[in-house]
Amino acid sequence: MSLTKTFSYGKQSIDEGDINAVTEILRSEWLTQGPQISKFEHLLCKKFGSKYAKVVGSGTAALHLAGLALGWKANDIVLTTPITFLATANCILYCGATPDFVDIDPITYNIDIQKLESKIKIYQASGKKIKAVIAVDYAGVPCDWMSLRSLADQYEFQLVDDACHAIGAEYQGEPIGSSVYADVTVFSFHPVKTITSGEGGALMTNNGRIHQAVEILLNHGMTKDEQILEKNDGPWYYEMHLLGFNYRITDVQCALGMSQLEKLEQFVQKRQEIARVYDEFFNQYERFIVPEIPLNCSPAYHLYPLQIRFDEYSFSKKEWFFLLRNKNLFLQVHYIPIHLQPYYRNKFGLRKGDFPFAEKFYQQEVSIPIYPDLVEEDLDYIVNTISKELH
Ligand SMILES: *Cc1c(COP(=O)(O)O)cnc(C)c1O
Repeated sequence: MSLTKTFSYGKQSIDEGDINAVTEILRSEWLTQGPQISKFEHLLCKKFGSKYAKVVGSGTAALHLAGLALGWKANDIVLTTPITFLATANCILYCGATPDFVDIDPITYNIDIQKLESKIKIYQASGKKIKAVIAVDYAGVPCDWMSLRSLADQYEFQLVDDACHAIGAEYQGEPIGSSVYADVTVFSFHPVKTITSGEGGALMTNNGRIHQAVEILLNHGMTKDEQILEKNDGPWYYEMHLLGFNYRITDVQCALGMSQLEKLEQFVQKRQEIARVYDEFFNQYERFIVPEIPLNCSPAYHLYPLQIRFDEYSFSKKEWFFLLRNKNLFLQVHYIPIHLQPYYRNKFGLRKGDFPFAEKFYQQEVSIPIYPDLVEEDLDYIVNTISKELH
């Protein structure tokens, strides 16, 4: 049975409830810009405890809008981690600001707090101030948000949580997305993430000014809000106040998102159970390094990043990947460090050796399957297939 199944590192889990929720909207008056949008936003606020939520077309759109609403512009410096998806750094460039990177902590794989402070001080010494930091809760493991917040207060920069991996995670008993530490938190509802709306994303904040800017920017910079209109010609009237985008999400997507949100705890619990099976199995062997979870958090396990000491083998990581593909295991690597991407290398003079922990992690990391629909015999097949090839 397992041999006829294929396994990727992650995928959605859809049930009849989800299908019915979507079908109901297809039969309704509004496919987009209808009542499901604010319903979804209200549920997100209630679930995570932020004052405001805005749902948009993707996590990438949410990151771009976060940067715009925070006022990022040319010559602003925004720091982030090289071990993240391209969108985290690209959103800085979309705003015309300058990205720079800080190496990861080799234990948590998240941005290294000490190195972050050193980098800020180096900029400071040359008379430059950091505008913002985008910290990524890699694999769904929360960053050290208390330290990040105190650095943000001390050095006066804006703090964005790219929590695309971490919806359903908790830090110090607070859900990620509560806006206790970060000025803006961004979620993605892409099908590989913890919950999905097909495509989709959200911004969580306690800051009304940011929320209002995002609301206008996601819809062409248009407003019909009588409180801010310069005049009012009639019921058809709108004004454009900012250069915005069409970053809207549809009612159909929101219906799926809401149906999925009800199952968030269940999904995360299942992911945590799978992680425990993997921890126990791979911990038996010297050649594997399993992720370590800081005591004060409950991770969402968007990914299960297993590190393998490939330099101890006679075959390469690439050869091993092809071997596993023949056995229906379609693993992935998260991530190719962003500073090594040709675009970033060429534009910013970045090179190999700049962020050694990120680079070593890239060499050793593989993301093995973790998603709610995996059953016990799947897990047996996965761990045995992975370890068998690595004698
Ligand atoms: C998925 C992801 C994004 C982008 O989200 P989309 O919804 O695919 O646009 C951004 N950052 C991280 C860390 C992600 O994993």
